[in-house]
Amino acid sequence: MENCLFCKIIKKEIPSEIVFENDELLAFRDISPQAPVHILIIPKIHIESPFEINSSNSTVAGKIIALAAEIAKEQKLEGYRLVFNCNEIAGQSVFHLHAHLLGGRIMNWPPG
Ligand code: 5GP
Ligand code: ZN
Repeated sequence: MENCLFCKIIKKEIPSEIVFENDELLAFRDISPQAPVHILIIPKIHIESPFEINSSNSTVAGKIIALAAEIAKEQKLEGYRLVFNCNEIAGQSVFHLHAHLLGGRIMNWPPG
């Protein structure tokens, strides 16, 4: 999708620190980390937000969650938080589906 920041990162038009890549997914470090480990996991297909996940594209959402577990183990995290912000009211600023994998520090609850 034109003018989508994360589509540009997928096409390598914008550089990023890539942690994992395959045909369907890309994982890269967040430019403004909120925890010692802060990795974004995105599908290569453009899905605007969690609201757009449905029965025809939900397989990729499962793969994002599975990849988060793999990366967390590889990063030797004792635990982690996986966040999908949905729409501006919940903190979404980039409208290409992404999971924030956060770890390496104690996470507060409720998140605020
Ligand atoms: P959101 O607020 O939409 O849930 O998360 C978007 C995330 O993308 C933010 O945590 C922000 O720091 C990150 N981000 C924004 N622009 C860039 C960029 O150009 N490169 C990388 N690696 N991360 C970015
Ligand atoms: Zn996109």
